[in-house]
Amino acid sequence: MFNTQKLPLLPLRDIVVFPHMIVPLFVGRDRSVKALESVMNGDKKLMLVTQKDSVTDDPGKDDLYEVGTIGTVLQLLKLPDGTVKVLVEGGERARILDFKNKDDYLRVEIETYKKEKFSKSDEKIIQSLARGCLSRFKDFVSLHKKLPSEVSETLGNMEDDPAKLADTIAAHIPLKTGEKQQILKREGLKERLELIYEQLEAEIDVLEVENKIRKRVKGQMEKTQRDYYLNEQMKAIQKELGDDNSTEVNELEERVKEKIKEGFLTEAVEEKLDNELKKLKSMNPMSAESTVVRNYIDWMLALPWEKKSEVNSDLEHAQTVLDEDHYSLEEVKERIIEFIAVQKRTNSLKGPILCLVGPPGVGKTSLGKSVARATGRDFARVALGGVRDESEIRGHRRTYVGSMPGKIIQSLKRAGHSNPVFMLDEIDKMSHDFRGDPASALLEVLDPEQNDSFVDHYMELEYDLSDVMFICTANSLNIPSPLKDRMEIIRIPGYTEDEKVNIAERHLIKKQLEANGLKDGEIVIPEETIRSLIQHYTREAGVRNLNREIAKLCRKTVKKIVADEAETISIAPDDLQDFSGVRKHRYGQAEEENLVGVTTGLAWTEVGGDILSIEAVILPGKGKVSMTGQLGDVMKESVTASEMLIKSRAQSFGIDPKIFEEHNIHVHVPEGATPKDGPSAGIAMVTSIVSVLTDNPVLKNVAMTGEITLRGRVLPIGGLKEKLLAALRAGVTKVLIPAENEKNLIDVPDNVKDDLEIVPVQTIDEVLLHALQDKLCPISDENDKKDPKKDLIPSKSAENGDSDVITH
Ligand code: ADP
Repeated sequence: MFNTQKLPLLPLRDIVVFPHMIVPLFVGRDRSVKALESVMNGDKKLMLVTQKDSVTDDPGKDDLYEVGTIGTVLQLLKLPDGTVKVLVEGGERARILDFKNKDDYLRVEIETYKKEKFSKSDEKIIQSLARGCLSRFKDFVSLHKKLPSEVSETLGNMEDDPAKLADTIAAHIPLKTGEKQQILKREGLKERLELIYEQLEAEIDVLEVENKIRKRVKGQMEKTQRDYYLNEQMKAIQKELGDDNSTEVNELEERVKEKIKEGFLTEAVEEKLDNELKKLKSMNPMSAESTVVRNYIDWMLALPWEKKSEVNSDLEHAQTVLDEDHYSLEEVKERIIEFIAVQKRTNSLKGPILCLVGPPGVGKTSLGKSVARATGRDFARVALGGVRDESEIRGHRRTYVGSMPGKIIQSLKRAGHSNPVFMLDEIDKMSHDFRGDPASALLEVLDPEQNDSFVDHYMELEYDLSDVMFICTANSLNIPSPLKDRMEIIRIPGYTEDEKVNIAERHLIKKQLEANGLKDGEIVIPEETIRSLIQHYTREAGVRNLNREIAKLCRKTVKKIVADEAETISIAPDDLQDFSGVRKHRYGQAEEENLVGVTTGLAWTEVGGDILSIEAVILPGKGKVSMTGQLGDVMKESVTASEMLIKSRAQSFGIDPKIFEEHNIHVHVPEGATPKDGPSAGIAMVTSIVSVLTDNPVLKNVAMTGEITLRGRVLPIGGLKEKLLAALRAGVTKVLIPAENEKNLIDVPDNVKDDLEIVPVQTIDEVLLHALQDKLCPISDENDKKDPKKDLIPSKSAENGDSDVITH
């Protein structure tokens, strides 16, 4: 049974009024105001219906929803502009049946919804639905920040009135008008609750997703904000500390740009620089890594890469420069000029590498510098003495803190161009250990087939060394053979006294004058003084010590001039005592008198030739031979061989064999602290022992060199030129050399040959004949008388040198 009635209509624009809802409304439309006015004097009820489209101003039947609520006006307030503010409370649901047009406003005929009756089970369902809705609504409120939390509290009181609860909830969910209308329209409470529950779920879902997104966004915002803030703080701190990374990185970037503009970088280098800069920018400037990267970039920028100096290959110019800088050394200079000529012709450096071999102070390094000057190249030098680790040549990997490029790259940086004369000094002094063999790294450096892409461990990039002119130096030929194979050896054996005098007069003194700020004429060093310096203050193959002594003279002179003691100083040989101290070396005769058991031998050492005294004494004993003086194995064997030779041929040397039964022989080679080795003192040993056994002095002016065999033959030796130079230095006048070495005399300067009496010898008998003061008188024994031809040695192989047993 429907309850129908007629009521004035109040169309609503944007709101659906649910039962129990109290809402304020602003009413402006004329007809609506009239409708309100019409009810104010009566029961104050009117029909509240929502427009389908809020913008319609004068809605008719089709513009309005069918279902609304019967509202009661609680309060009405007329505003000065003619509009009205009312407070209405929603009442029962009603459906519009008909529209009755009145003049001033619309009236509608409506019917209210019929009251529902619920069965027990329905009631239960409704109860539980209501409870479900309530709890979901509470969830909804807690998620929906804009709804005040009291809303859910007031709802809590409505648990017993599911219909009221449903309408209140429906009023509070922010749904579209159409959706709200759907809820309002539903007739059954159960269905209404179901719909509300559904809508709540959907809304909660949306809210949850929204919240999640909001949280995530907020989290991200916070993190970026936090990072930004911390970074700013760090920058501020760095600024305070005075090390602002950004300016430093910018400076570096500028330098990189400039370097690229210069145009000497390869593409690979530019790319690497770019990457490293990027890496640096993203790094904490205080970290150790960033220091490593910065150092690396510094190195990249410091290297010359493709920057090369202009090469002068004018041979005449080269010859002039070499002659200007060095006295004599004609052969060496010629070889160097040939070398430059070939380079000019083939326009490449592919070819053997020059290796200058000789004692210290003979001008190897300064020749290198001259070559650089002559060809217009820079000069770079690496000392290889003591290098035992591959990484010294090739660098350490960048992972090590404090790692650096190897010596090659370091020297190129110093040279400033990529085509210098590169001197590898003391290549024979390199050793190797478990950390890798530096010689093999050098091999790669020197190999023209490989060295256009040399990779230093630190630089990690290929470096083109093919325009570098390598020159090696060494004191000896003790060079790893794969290296030696690539080299063209040029020997510089040492200078004669005359050469030294010339070098001093033409070069050393000039340089020292300049170095010490002396003017021409302020110091006069006559030739005799230089000779005396050479003879008494130096004993060397080169001129290094001579140079030092001259420097000393210059310094003392400067002192005297500055102290106004004199204006010019001339240093006579006798003044040297004052200037250079007491004489360091005895010059003249190797020995001052003919001595028994002391022979002058000649030795070849890495610092050139030298003289060697071989001393022998006899003492009571049982025929044993002992020796001292740090002798190497070969030299010890040489002593033993001498002993055996003498014992076996004692009588022919005029020695009574009985002497061995009662005496020991001791051999000593001073200076005891210097290790010595080699077989070439063999004949000198025999001479000393024979001399002491026969009490026959050795001539003081004779020196000798030669290996001895058990049969008494003299075998050839090495280093003849150096040894003869040493003999001359020592003041010896006669030198015994193995006959087989006679051919080597061609290399010996003429003045040496002129000043020395050089005697080639084949047997020990000849040696003794030349060296001993008195002629030997062989002792003949009874056996000899029976068979005069018989030697003490088994005669079969006596003349057969092949059976000699001395090892070399
Ligand atoms: P090394 O490298 O062989 O040990 P250096 O090149 O250091 O020898 O030479 C030492 C000094 O002797 C240098 O000042 C060098 O100029 C000078 N010197 C050596 N030989 C000559 C020479 N033939 N002419 C001029 N000066 C020389």
